[in-house]
Amino acid sequence: MQTIASPNKYAGRASAVEVIVIHTMEAPEGTATAEQIAAYFAKPSTRASAHVCADSDSLVRCVADQDTAWAAPGANANGLQLELAGYAKQTAAEWADAYSTAMLELAAQQCAEWVRKYGIPIRHLTVAELKAGRMGFVAHDDVSKAFRKSTHWDPGPDFPWGPFLARVSALVSGAVPVVNPIPAPAPPTVIRQGARGSLVTRVQSFLGITADGIFGPATHAAVAAYQRALGLTVDGIVGAQTWEAINAGRRASAGPSTRDAAQTRATQAAVHATVDGYWGDDTDNGVNIVRAALNGQKDRQAQVTVGAAPDGIWGAKSQAALVATVKKLQAAWGVKDDGVWGSKTEAAYQAARARNYKAW
Ligand SMILES: [Zn+2]
Repeated sequence: MQTIASPNKYAGRASAVEVIVIHTMEAPEGTATAEQIAAYFAKPSTRASAHVCADSDSLVRCVADQDTAWAAPGANANGLQLELAGYAKQTAAEWADAYSTAMLELAAQQCAEWVRKYGIPIRHLTVAELKAGRMGFVAHDDVSKAFRKSTHWDPGPDFPWGPFLARVSALVSGAVPVVNPIPAPAPPTVIRQGARGSLVTRVQSFLGITADGIFGPATHAAVAAYQRALGLTVDGIVGAQTWEAINAGRRASAGPSTRDAAQTRATQAAVHATVDGYWGDDTDNGVNIVRAALNGQKDRQAQVTVGAAPDGIWGAKSQAALVATVKKLQAAWGVKDDGVWGSKTEAAYQAARARNYKAW
């Protein structure tokens, strides 16, 4: 874990660790949000801090557990403070999107470590229990209500306490941590006439015109012609739809770009992804959905991934399809196909991904 140390702390603690306090950063979701907020906490003038900041792809340590962070007056001396990217006003649907799901997995892994280390019970305390000195998990909002030293109400009323604590509990009981949570999809950069740079060069090379990195009238005309040929909206602008077409075209012309196309195809077939020998985000997502299903996220998407009927009811057939999928993945990755995802399977998966994954 990266450390960006904050000077805003008391050395040592006036009390033993008793509670884990959950916060939202009130900052936009992004893959650099944890680093940015940690950098903010690193400024002496901020006069605030937390022990750990989480976003969708990383945890950043700001204050050591044995020191007192300045985050929730009333529960600083006995609290471990965890900051999550996003806002207290988030709806339940927003807490369930791909970004938050990835971030909450990392946050749950951090909390599971704290639970093991400090013996903190995995339960969300009431305000009365917090005031009475019970051990457990609380929201900053609970601390504000209990001690009335702040009006902060994060992480908000729709924070998914039930699923979050269930995940912490599963991890403490030995569930396999998701090592590469599904990354938040980045919005494509829209390029149009006047744009310059490597993305322009990429489009020009693909279209077979002079690749000078300058989006002028000739590039505009070539993009429009390409859009017309594909039946897309003809505007000469490379937006989401045109990027998708261009990237698919580049992949098709490049052929399998993974080092072991057979292994990639077998992996794709196992998770019912498009079998093109190209290990990109789709293939990653499929494998991550299988791991999430093994950890209890047995939903419609998981049924589709393992090839079961997507009726939203996880019965014996879905479970059998999940185990069969794990066996196929194990065979693809060259480990014993016993249908149980343990440390050897995890290591084989990581090795296969490192060998074959390529982002576009
Ligand atoms: Zn807070």
